[in-house]
Amino acid sequence: MACFVNKVVIVTGASAGIGAATAVRFAQEGANVAIVGRNQERLAKVAEDCAKYGRNPLVIKADVSKDDEARSIVAKTVEAFDKLDILVNNAGIYKYDDIQKPDFMEIFDSIMTTNMRAVAFLTNLAVPYLIESKGNIVNVSSIAGRCVGHPHRTSYKTSKAALNHFTRCIALELAPHGVRVNSVSPGPVATEIFNTAGLPDALTTLKDATALGRVGESEEIADLILFVASDKAKSITGSDYVSDNGMLLKQ
Ligand code: NDP
Repeated sequence: MACFVNKVVIVTGASAGIGAATAVRFAQEGANVAIVGRNQERLAKVAEDCAKYGRNPLVIKADVSKDDEARSIVAKTVEAFDKLDILVNNAGIYKYDDIQKPDFMEIFDSIMTTNMRAVAFLTNLAVPYLIESKGNIVNVSSIAGRCVGHPHRTSYKTSKAALNHFTRCIALELAPHGVRVNSVSPGPVATEIFNTAGLPDALTTLKDATALGRVGESEEIADLILFVASDKAKSITGSDYVSDNGMLLKQ
């Protein structure tokens, strides 16, 4: 029996990569899914993939970094499905930065706004509904939030370290209301994020940096997200689940 039947789930960054795989897995398990992203064409393709399992998702074209559009994500979902059970904060961007260059603050602000501030605002908007449904939140962080590792990833790593701390703080604050809050931290996963960041060769280097000599696939992270969001994880809150092919072992 599918464990998300009649559950209402928002997945941000669902037009590609880990978010797309997560949306499809939730649809497969019977959930009503709201899929969020800026690229309408790619959202339409993911909607088709979800619909193969009999559930038409709610497609929401929105930029999570813009407050009005963030408001529309929660409002449209609740309007369509009358409730909210699970919020998956997955949308994220990755870029190299250089503290000695003039564009450092521009990169820092864009990464922090998307990877951290948008999560805080969406959480703030979703909390009343999650308290009502005794639901939960899964934040997609990164092992970059745990290790210092390589230079020129300061903004990204800072955003994910902040997200980990945010996850724990909100988990404690919402625990008395029966709402769980957790994060998952992937190591390198084969998605478009590196091409978008202008780093097409990054995955080859990252593969060699893992203990298992491989990079992850979006579906593996999606399965982990579904586990954490499910009742099987009812004792778990404030936790961060690593799936990194042993990369942290080698740091
Ligand atoms: P992709 O680039 O494949 O997908 C990113 C998704 O985020 C897209 O759907 C994109 O949609 C969406 N997105 C980005 N910015 C915004 C925005 N402002 N508003 C709405 N949606 C947005 O990346 P991944 O699937 O790899 O990344 C997903 C998450 O996983 C991120 O948080 C990332 O940090 C994390 N992660 C990824 C790792 C990897 O190696 N791939 C490793 C560790 C963590 P659109 O362009 O349509 O807006």
